[in-house]
Amino acid sequence: MAVTRTFSIIKPDATRRNLTGKINAMLEDAGLRIVAQKRIHMTADQAGKFYEVHKERPFYQDLITFMTSGPVVVQVLEGEDAVKTNRDVMGATNPADAAEGTIRKAFAENIEANSVHGSDSDENAAIEIAFFFSGTEIVG
Ligand code: ADP
Ligand code: MG
Repeated sequence: MAVTRTFSIIKPDATRRNLTGKINAMLEDAGLRIVAQKRIHMTADQAGKFYEVHKERPFYQDLITFMTSGPVVVQVLEGEDAVKTNRDVMGATNPADAAEGTIRKAFAENIEANSVHGSDSDENAAIEIAFFFSGTEIVG
């Protein structure tokens, strides 16, 4: 397995409860290195574009409202097979289905306010990283 990168977001439900450090510790304990990180308040335009793939889903507008409801922490994570390593430590989308030891099992409030985002493929990771970070902001 190669060392790769993925894109992560600590969502507003988690920043509101001051969980950034606890989530970062779980990411690092899973073998991921935070090689870029910034706290931002997404605009509706940014959130709409970021989640454009879901625009036909019934929860799309609610998701944009949620993702712009408070600050988020956007991150680039690096590690062995980073996309899968991160998805594994995140847990299932719905916390009711998330395994013990995962971030969503520990912290998610519900299927929408589920504390973290993680890219689902290397291709999407590259697109999502470029959406929020310039090359010089990523220090491996
Ligand atoms: P994941 O974040 O696990 O990759 P998806 O890409 O399917 O999940 O969905 C993106 C985000 O949209 C989820 O993390 C969650 O915040 C929200 N979401 C997904 N499914 C639902 C749903 N049925 N109702 C409300 N929000 C949802
Ligand atoms: Mg997804």
